[in-house]
Amino acid sequence: MTQNLLANHTTARVGGPATTWITVTTEDQLTRAVADTDAAGVPLLVVAGGSNLLVADEGFPGTVVQISTEGVEIIESTDHNVHIRVAAGHQWDDVVAWSVTQGLTGIEALSGIPGSTGATPVQNVGAYGADISQTLHSIRVWDRENHEIVELTGEDLDFGYRDSIIKRSIASSATNFHQASPRWIVLTVDLQLTKTGELAPVRYTQLARALNVELGASAPLQHIRQTVLGLRASKGMVLDPTDYDTWSTGSFFTNPIVPNDVAATLPDEAPRFAHHEAGNDADTIKLSAAWLIDHAGFHKGFGLNGESGTVEGRASLSTKHTLALTNRGSATTRDLIRIASLVRNGVAEKWGIRLVPEPVLIGVQLTD
Ligand SMILES: Cc1cc2nc3c(=O)[nH]c(=O)nc-3n(C[C@H](O)[C@H](O)[C@H](O)COP(=O)(O)OP(=O)(O)OC[C@H]3O[C@@H](n4cnc5c(N)ncnc54)[C@H](O)[C@@H]3O)c2cc1C
Repeated sequence: MTQNLLANHTTARVGGPATTWITVTTEDQLTRAVADTDAAGVPLLVVAGGSNLLVADEGFPGTVVQISTEGVEIIESTDHNVHIRVAAGHQWDDVVAWSVTQGLTGIEALSGIPGSTGATPVQNVGAYGADISQTLHSIRVWDRENHEIVELTGEDLDFGYRDSIIKRSIASSATNFHQASPRWIVLTVDLQLTKTGELAPVRYTQLARALNVELGASAPLQHIRQTVLGLRASKGMVLDPTDYDTWSTGSFFTNPIVPNDVAATLPDEAPRFAHHEAGNDADTIKLSAAWLIDHAGFHKGFGLNGESGTVEGRASLSTKHTLALTNRGSATTRDLIRIASLVRNGVAEKWGIRLVPEPVLIGVQLTD
């Protein structure tokens, strides 16, 4: 039974049991497990690293298919580029580490993001001025609607900020277990990396500052990776089993993208980011969810001291970063949802902006 417990397979370490649990290590097993579950009309939950998933304490009334496929294959290597194909279950950070040792540029700023490669196109994972849409060539998926394997390009995926058609096909919902997984199950991810040798451009102000280079200038790949890992660790954004600040789903809320006139109602010191991601609309601006949370009175560690309405320190905002919602060792999903709801509602009351959760919520939702 503990094998079936979502708490044992998610980085926030919460979530009840699934009725059935199937772990797959080959692509064949993966497509068969998904097709059989669908054919039987049983709710399906696809899980890989469990780092962007929050499942109800009551568990999942259906079959979990856990993706543990592995492998990196070089499809083509030219003078300038290398085209690789990565199995969906392959640890993402292992791919990044490998690319850096090979002198390949494109994903070094995405160092330290937990989870699998197959999940990276789901929410167009991003950090430090990069996202997966910039290097993704195509993906091979099992299409659950048409019962076939198809190839989708970046254009097909219609990427946005932490978004794609795959994520939009999931119903993050308290009750709709039949839409708990996306229509397209990623089997492999093809990336196009550049052979620059040792150097890569730095596209994020905080990273450039930490590297002591001008924004847009180049720095050694290995140095970029180590600096990103250091910056991430200082915010509790690199998994560490001994540090409760990392028992989380990473950022719990996305940075809100709002019309310019809404941004104009905020104080001058509220951070505003240019956003270059796919799907950018010129009349909108990206705000810092962390700033909005902090300046609505929810500081680092909120919840740890049993503040009014919280859950006696079982769950809290990270002590390193207001964007991460953390399990302090004995939290339940209900506890995390309680803190998240207090924060979302408090931010809405203070700033008139409703934050949107980043992780996929299964069987639970924030409450007003
Ligand atoms: C400490 C920490 C830091 C993080 N930092 C970042 C960050 O900087 N940037 C960022 O973007 N994210 C970040 N995340 C979130 C998370 O790591 C990413 O979203 C990651 O890609 C999730 O991968 P996973 O394998 O754990 O997915 P899971 O949590 O297992 O699944 C997430 C969703 O994707 C679906 N899914 C998983 N695999 C597949 C597949 N093969 N095909 C179709 N659907 C699939 C699942 O059904 C679920 O809906 C962070 C998380 C943590 C805990």
